[in-house]
Amino acid sequence: MSLLIKGGRVVDPMSGTDEILDIFIRGEKILKIGKGITFSAKKIIDATDSIVIPGLIDMHTHLRDPGREDEETIRSGTLAAARGGFTTICCMPNTSPVIDDISLVRYILRKAEKEGVVEVLPIASISKNEDGETLSEMGKLRREGAVSFSDDGKWVRNAHLMRRALEYVKMLNLPLISHCENEDLSKNGVINEGIFSTILGLPGIPKEAEEVAVFRDICLTRLANSSLHIAHISTVSSLNLVREARKRGIKVSCEVTPHHFTLSEELVRSFDTNTKINPPLRGKDDVKALREGLKDGSIEVIATDHAPHTPEEKELDYALAPFGIIGLETALGLVIKELVKPEILTLSQGIAKLTVNPARILNLDRGRIREEGLANLAIFNLNEEWEVKKEDFLSLSKNSPFVGWSLPGKVKWTIFKGKVAYRS
Ligand SMILES: [Zn+2]
Repeated sequence: MSLLIKGGRVVDPMSGTDEILDIFIRGEKILKIGKGITFSAKKIIDATDSIVIPGLIDMHTHLRDPGREDEETIRSGTLAAARGGFTTICCMPNTSPVIDDISLVRYILRKAEKEGVVEVLPIASISKNEDGETLSEMGKLRREGAVSFSDDGKWVRNAHLMRRALEYVKMLNLPLISHCENEDLSKNGVINEGIFSTILGLPGIPKEAEEVAVFRDICLTRLANSSLHIAHISTVSSLNLVREARKRGIKVSCEVTPHHFTLSEELVRSFDTNTKINPPLRGKDDVKALREGLKDGSIEVIATDHAPHTPEEKELDYALAPFGIIGLETALGLVIKELVKPEILTLSQGIAKLTVNPARILNLDRGRIREEGLANLAIFNLNEEWEVKKEDFLSLSKNSPFVGWSLPGKVKWTIFKGKVAYRS
């Protein structure tokens, strides 16, 4: 199979490329990048007026397989990913059962190979069954294909265990991914603690629940001389702790979700359970700080924390509904609308946070456009607006606070290993 992508504006943050070029693909790889390529190809995509970028990488996706295939399967999750321009998604291990064993890593990889339309890379749990007591067999899990480790959904409360885990991942040359939340402080909370939790009479989650966890994990990373990646950072002080640590040479990176750099806490007044997220939507000052963190490079990664839930679950009372929203299909649009259009980030900087940066952190040979490299690409129109509609989601779940929004950056094609994974 050969494919020629003609006349697109190729934006590759890794090489700094930003010009009109053709891309010729044979099999799974890019054979040639250049102007006016005339090779004959089985299929030609006219990318005039479109932007061609490396296939996006999400380092924080929740697929619900195994255990809750009514919320999301590997098939539906990868279809949603492809619609969003993603060609690689890293799935979190808090499924049922938890991905803490090589047989489960194999299960994910095999199923993704068979049913998935893009690549799925499993993140295995730090502790067995995410119990926070016994370390998983990290070396074996890594050899089997786990790309990192996290007890996402929970914080590793036991500092000794966390220290050991950090020492292990250092040997494996990987960062540990931490869901920073001290549950003694966040317990029973459903929204950010502050004026709105008081007015609405809903139990609050103080920012400090995140910040004390970030602080401890940075201390342990220094002690182990290891590297740490903080998932879904959400407060000014957490970000300042990361900045301080990096200044002192501690290897800490962090990610922000599109909803945390877009939405703030007053939305919870709607009692729409699609505003119930963990960590919760924070104050306007936090949103502003997160945008500054993206701009100054303190936040290197944008990750979706795609968290599918069925309508039945999300239709419960606010206090009872589960945390989380889907994000794969709206991420690129929100990056362009909220960050690129207002000139907080250049297009290349925005794309870097969804491609080469997560690839570098996870040591993946992905996220760039180069000859001989895998033909993983997304093609989108920067200015074409599209309306987010429930019925258009390819995710099995529809829990998004962005339904009804108009977003720029419509994805036209997603190419995974030289094959069309999505076409609008
Ligand atoms: Zn998490």
